Amino acid sequence: MKYNLDKRTFIKLFSITFFSFFLLPSKYAKAVTKKVINENLTKKQKEIMFNEGTERPFTSDLLNEKREGFYHCANCGAKLFASTAKFDSGTGWPSFTEALPGAFKTKIDYSFGMKRIEYHCANCGVHHGHVFADGPSETGKRFCNNGLCLIFKPTSSN
Ligand SMILES: [Zn+2]
Repeated sequence: MKYNLDKRTFIKLFSITFFSFFLLPSKYAKAVTKKVINENLTKKQKEIMFNEGTERPFTSDLLNEKREGFYHCANCGAKLFASTAKFDSGTGWPSFTEALPGAFKTKIDYSFGMKRIEYHCANCGVHHGHVFADGPSETGKRFCNNGLCLIFKPTSSN
């Protein structure tokens, strides 16, 4: 009788331990898929890109950027948006109606009690923003991007 109880306790403890070990590496593996490629990223940029943070609205210099060119990933340099897709959404974050093909991958984000679609750089995996279905053009999409995750390269200066 005593033996059985101990055995059950042992199995229970063993499975808890087993599952902890089983779950931890997957979380770790997810974390390591994002790599710091740009060594000059600031603390704030890293917080947004690697911990899915959000910059304060109306703080990005890119809000008033109206030149022709392309927006690149601040971490890996991948080309993400064309300036032709940019529009003023009034939200305080750089907004785009569409991304360049294959630029991003998405996942469903349930944080803050909301169901949102998070998107991240398809090349390096860092977080960029959320995409909403209330965009002004035919795509119906609004990519709400943290300005700190983007580097603008004007076409004219190349
Ligand atoms: Zn990237």
